[in-house]
Amino acid sequence: MARRPIVGGNWKCNPKSKKDLDGLIANIQACDTSKCDVYVCPSMLHIDYCSDKFTNGAMVTPQNCNFTGCGAFTGESAVEQMQDMGITNVLIGHSERRGEFNITPMETNSSLADKLRYILDAGMTCVFCIGEPKSIREQGLQAVLLEMDKQLTLVYRMLDPEKVVIAYEPVWAIGTGLTATPEDAQATHAGIRKLISDRVSPSVADAIRIQYGGSASAKNAPELSKMPDIDGFLVGGASLKPEFKEIVDAIS
Ligand code: PGA
Repeated sequence: MARRPIVGGNWKCNPKSKKDLDGLIANIQACDTSKCDVYVCPSMLHIDYCSDKFTNGAMVTPQNCNFTGCGAFTGESAVEQMQDMGITNVLIGHSERRGEFNITPMETNSSLADKLRYILDAGMTCVFCIGEPKSIREQGLQAVLLEMDKQLTLVYRMLDPEKVVIAYEPVWAIGTGLTATPEDAQATHAGIRKLISDRVSPSVADAIRIQYGGSASAKNAPELSKMPDIDGFLVGGASLKPEFKEIVDAIS
């Protein structure tokens, strides 16, 4: 089946100054969204400023959300608050929140399942991130897929292709300049699709979009985007540059 590609820009905890936002917004606004969905993840502090800036359909997408509604949850944001601002899409499960940087994990597979249920029940769409650390990649593809199965186990039944996009991001490739080769990325994406086919259904597996993330760039996007199971990119560093548009053009 033809899946519409989707490219996201994750600005993470950038930029330092609000005055730099307009330049970053222009990079996203420059993208042609006629053949590709585009979303951008500003920091929570900048969501409001960005929320009405895109006329090309780019979706402003928070980098995280609470596991339940408003109330006594210091530091959290509820999907009800997002919806009130016109936001329809939210990203969860990024490895930087799953605790890959020697900090206490802020997310577990179980908390992420709660979050996804909450997001979908509220009628929002979601980008759900998964990925393996280097120690697992070094054990080979089967070990990687075992880990992907673990990260997906509690959410398989929630994988509605209309509502959920999976972002596969090998942790060792994030922000390192190391990218999975197109063949390795394709083998992992195909393996994830097979897991979904076995655990949910072939039609869900066929329809769900799986993005690749991890040092995606204008240089590697053309080769990666030729791979049949790669449906777009989640872009960190390069989403802070005009290069982002070239990545969108590569997959469109
Ligand atoms: P990167 O980040 O493109 O800078 O590697 C990707 C991500 O963390 O989503």
